[in-house]
Amino acid sequence: MLTKTQCPSRREIRNPEFPLVSCGSDGETKVVKIGDRPFGGQMFSVIAGPCAVESEELIFEAAKMVRSLGAVVLRGGAFKPRTSPYSFQGLGLPGVEIMHQASRQHDIPFVTEVMAPRWVEEMEPLVDAFQVGARNMQNVELLREVGRSDRPVVLKRSFGATVEEWVLAAEYIAQEGNEEIILCERGIRGFGEATRFTLDLAGAMWARHETKLPVIADPSHAIGSPHLIGGAAAATAAAGLDGLMIEVHPQPAQARCDAEQLLEGRDFAALMDRLRPVVAAVGRCLTNSASPARSW
Ligand code: PEP
Ligand code: MN
Repeated sequence: MLTKTQCPSRREIRNPEFPLVSCGSDGETKVVKIGDRPFGGQMFSVIAGPCAVESEELIFEAAKMVRSLGAVVLRGGAFKPRTSPYSFQGLGLPGVEIMHQASRQHDIPFVTEVMAPRWVEEMEPLVDAFQVGARNMQNVELLREVGRSDRPVVLKRSFGATVEEWVLAAEYIAQEGNEEIILCERGIRGFGEATRFTLDLAGAMWARHETKLPVIADPSHAIGSPHLIGGAAAATAAAGLDGLMIEVHPQPAQARCDAEQLLEGRDFAALMDRLRPVVAAVGRCLTNSASPARSW
């Protein structure tokens, strides 16, 4: 594991195009923690939760459910970058406050999206990690602002970005002093609409090889169909990535956002069962929510 003080000098780095986030000649990745939950190194960690913070009741129920099924970090958007301005836009800052309470009550740290630089300062005391969404991956001012924060950042790849552009976006964050970055592959635009996007596992593997940052995948947004998500999750572990982000909802049919791709509890439980032997087969440990330092 590389800490900030052990950061490789310019001569030792693998890729001089992005000197701060490039991995060193030893190829090791750094461990980035959300709360006390590790991503990278030996650990494989799962983030789960609904697409959006729809209500207090939903997020408390979701926090309890995903934690009991093996997720170590809760997800959910309070600020939602919806394709249509007429779709539900999220609860905003009160939604972040609700998530904070649910997270503390159920002992599961959380990540939530920040959509504009002006919200970083207000959200910082509440959140365990910031998510920069696909649509904001090249919002340079937002990247710089989260780069000045001391919270880890989950940086999603834009569905229209090359892997180099994705990694250079991480370099912007690191330039401001924050190297606690987790890269998240969430699918790029492909041909046809049989799947929502195309999960670029090879691109994510490239980022995992070239950078010192942990790399996770979000097959929920990449694929968009619940029955295909478990297989892609297992493939993510087999590919040597560091974790997953999965959309899970206690009652998908009632959801106000991305209802068609949400897993219900029993599907998420099945995904975790499918994942465990694959994680073990590649010599990694699945982080356990009950005891994050230990594996299942
Ligand atoms: C999300 O994770 O809630 C989300 C909006 O994802 P993306 O930015 O990848 O579309
Ligand atoms: Mn979503």
